Amino acid sequence: MKMYFYYGVMGSSKTANALMKKFNFEEQGRKVILLKPKIDTRDGEGIVKSRIGLFCKALLIKEDDTITNTIKDYDRPDVIIVDEAQFLTVSQVDELREMVDNGIMVMCYGLKTDYMGHLFEGSKRILEVTDTIREIQSMCKCGKKAIINARYSDGKIIYKGNQIDIGGNNKYRALCHKCWVNGKV
Ligand SMILES: [Zn+2]
Repeated sequence: MKMYFYYGVMGSSKTANALMKKFNFEEQGRKVILLKPKIDTRDGEGIVKSRIGLFCKALLIKEDDTITNTIKDYDRPDVIIVDEAQFLTVSQVDELREMVDNGIMVMCYGLKTDYMGHLFEGSKRILEVTDTIREIQSMCKCGKKAIINARYSDGKIIYKGNQIDIGGNNKYRALCHKCWVNGKV
């Protein structure tokens, strides 16, 4: 079995991809568990929702909990899909890695870096231990590839602050590096 990391900027349809993957596996008769770190409560408790309207119930992983404990009331899955995987802790990623080695496929979807261009802790660990890395690409408004989730307020890009500040289109925009450096939201 393998561990996969699908990363992309905000708005690159990661969640829609994750939900379609879940649907495909279930059509093949495989047991899938959808997980999401509890830190991201944008879509309400236990719901994974994509911008194009697809949504699905998910189990929430608390920051101080284990994956094993989170899924203990469910049958052993064939596949675990994690949305917003950048918010996993290092030990949760290591636990998922161990599950892959024990025969469960794990697919992580998430952001690689924050709005300052630095790796999230969870994404860093996934990059270190995953078998396969795939980028889900999307475009900056100028047409180049978007690589950073610019955070902005009052039309200006913010370059410093807390790493985590949950928000959607109203706070973040995916930009290429040049537009980000030039401060063009
Ligand atoms: Zn650009």
